[in-house]
Parts: sequence; structure tokens; C-alpha cells
Amino acid sequence: MELISGKIKETREQVKEWKRQGFTVGLVPTMGYLHEGHKSLMEAAKKENDKVAVSIFVNPIQFGPKEDFASYPRDFDRDAALCESVGVDLIFHPVAGEMYGEDFCTYVDMDGLTKELCGKSRPTHFRGVQTVVSKLFHIIPADRAYFGQKDAQQLAVIKRMARDLSMDIEIVGCPIIREEDGLAKSSRNTYLNKEERQAALVLNRSLAEGKKLIEAGVRDAAQIKQRIEETIGQEKLAKIDYVELVDFADITPIGNLSKAKEGEVLCAIAVFIGKTRLIDNFIWKGFGD
Ligand code: AMP
Repeated sequence: MELISGKIKETREQVKEWKRQGFTVGLVPTMGYLHEGHKSLMEAAKKENDKVAVSIFVNPIQFGPKEDFASYPRDFDRDAALCESVGVDLIFHPVAGEMYGEDFCTYVDMDGLTKELCGKSRPTHFRGVQTVVSKLFHIIPADRAYFGQKDAQQLAVIKRMARDLSMDIEIVGCPIIREEDGLAKSSRNTYLNKEERQAALVLNRSLAEGKKLIEAGVRDAAQIKQRIEETIGQEKLAKIDYVELVDFADITPIGNLSKAKEGEVLCAIAVFIGKTRLIDNFIWKGFGD
């Protein structure tokens, strides 16, 4: 590890020095409490770049007032050890005050893509995400940045932001990493007690039911949505936040899967298991269907 720093200036200087030396740089933005999902992004970054930077920052402005900012799990020492084991070259872990001065008042926002899915129940979330990711891109001027499909809407939003604002960085999407029993890995899984952990399997199971219908030739989104909702409904600890099928090109609702503009449909769900809100999804690539 060449640098572990909470300071913007020092971090930027290190990355600029790498660039001067002709190295390519990959960035993996995270909120810490790292697991195999994060690790897969770091490994992808490691393969495709000379240097890898990981940011660890629980970003207050992407949490709503009633959300879990205070209780979000944190363990820097464990995270640093995991980064070290993958061969990460730099960790940037600022405190909130380093990122947001008292008079901070500039945000990055988007008209499209952020209104559906998580944008409905978390109205200021993506503004917070876009703002922090823009800041990270300025602090760590990387060649590529890595994001998981686990947060598929976030991936779409960041790709669009980088394109619309002509940011000089390639956004790389990486597949969802799951536990052996199918639950998508998430830092928030630590909130689940034993019974809830079992109940949480309904997310992946309901998506599998939806997929089955598509494989059987169903293209009517309402029918697929209904099957997924019915499956989740069978789990008593689960409460649906949303089940939606959207055109992945612009995150707008879609009636018939065959009509997707670029042939990709995102089927995304958010479900409360007890008090814990979990998300999962799959992308159907039906181009030429
Ligand atoms: P977070 O720390 O939850 O903000 O996540 C940081 C990055 O890791 C985001 O790009 C996530 O999409 C990605 N990520 C989180 N969980 C997974 C997972 N199970 N599989 C793949 N990527 C993930």
C-alpha cells in the first residue's frame, strides 16, 4: 500500500504523480464494511490498471433523514486489511468535514433516470451519490471507475452523469456477487437476525420466478411483476418497497419487454426484511428478441 489518507490534497497529489509516471489508475468507490462484492470490483480494477485506489466514505448526503447513516456498519481496520490482501495501492477515507465544508452548497443532479425505483422512496439519494462520485472523480482522477450491478440504477446514473458532463473516465459495471444460497452480498446484511437472514432469500427467489416467466416467453411486464410480488408476499417477514421492470437505457417504466430501446430491461426490487431494506435485480438482455 502506497498511501492511506483522509486528506484530499495528499490523495490527489499521489494520483497525479502516478499519472505523471504514466501509470493507469482504477478507482473503486465504496462506503466500507467491505465484502466479496467490493473485492470483485477491486480485482477487476487491479486487472485493468497499473494502480488501484479505493475510497471508503459513508456519504451522509445520500442518506435520508430517517435512514441508517448513524448505524451503517464501519470497520476501517478490517477494510484496510482486505484492500491490502487484494493489492490495493491507495485508500482514501476522509471524514465528512473534509468532503463537505460548513458552507457546502453545490450538488450534481439529473432530470432523468433518478425518478423511478429507489428514487421514489429515496428522493435525495441519487443527488447525494452523484455529488460524492463527482467529487471523488476530481480528487482521484482515475482512468476507470468500477461499480457493481448490485446497485443497477446507480450504475446507470453514474454512466449517464459521466457521459452528460463529458467526464474523462470510463465507467465499468461488474456482476452481482452472491452468498452461496443466492442472497446478494451487502454490508446491510449484517443487520439481519437469523430468521430475517433466511427470509431475505425471498429476494433472489422471487427474481428467479420472474426470470422463469421471461424464459417461458412472457413479455408483459405486469405479469412478471405480479409473479414476483406474489412470491415475496408468501414470506411473512417481507414487505415490498417496489417491484419494477424498466428500460435499462433510461430507467423508465416498460410495458412490453420487447420494446426496450437498447434491448435491455432491468427488473429491480427493494424489499424490507423487518427493518432492513434490501435491493436486488437482474438485467434481461433480449436484443433481437
Ligand atoms: P457500497 O459500499 O454498498 O456503496 O458499494 C460500493 C460498490 O460496491 C458499489 O458500486 C456497489 O454496487 C458494489 N457492490 C456492493 N455489493 C455488491 C455485490 N454483492 N456484488 C457486486 N458489487 C457490489
